[in-house]
Amino acid sequence: MQPLIDNARTFGQRPEEFARLAEGQSPDVLFITCSDSRVVPALITGARPGQLFELRTAGNIVPPYAGEHPTSEAATIEYAVEVLGIQDIVVCGHSHCGAIGALVRGDDLTAVPAVREWLTHAAGEPVCSDTGDPTVAEAVQNHVLAQVLRLRSYPCVEKRLTDGQLRLHAWYYEVHTGTVHAHRAESDAFETL
Ligand code: ZN
Repeated sequence: MQPLIDNARTFGQRPEEFARLAEGQSPDVLFITCSDSRVVPALITGARPGQLFELRTAGNIVPPYAGEHPTSEAATIEYAVEVLGIQDIVVCGHSHCGAIGALVRGDDLTAVPAVREWLTHAAGEPVCSDTGDPTVAEAVQNHVLAQVLRLRSYPCVEKRLTDGQLRLHAWYYEVHTGTVHAHRAESDAFETL
């Protein structure tokens, strides 16, 4: 923890770079990814402050839309789309994901009931032909596509898609290589960016 505190102490010594941020935000992308500490969206994309609007959840799960009982995730997505006018949403899963691995292996999660309950939102168990693969790549990629599909059930997202004002992207990030793969509609496969 101490190195992080030390860095935070000196971080605010570049006021000229940050002054314009007081005028507001106009981020380019809503970046939805896992809470995993090995995934650092700004590092991966080179984004500067103000460029990425982030939503991080365990397993980058997009919960079902429930208008009468809005979730924190739905509020973040709605704000990004309706207020900030975001035109691109990236859902980025990653290799070695603990949440997806637990689903694939059918881990006993009785000690973490909140996690167990949250994972039930995962739009079904991810399809995976090799449950012994430590990267759980196939399962994560299928899971990411399911979350993108889930996003389309959000009224604000569907409306913007229909109007041609929004694009959805499915990414898969390898924590052990730093490589990013994107789903290509033409090949229906994840390919290196
Ligand atoms: Zn994860």
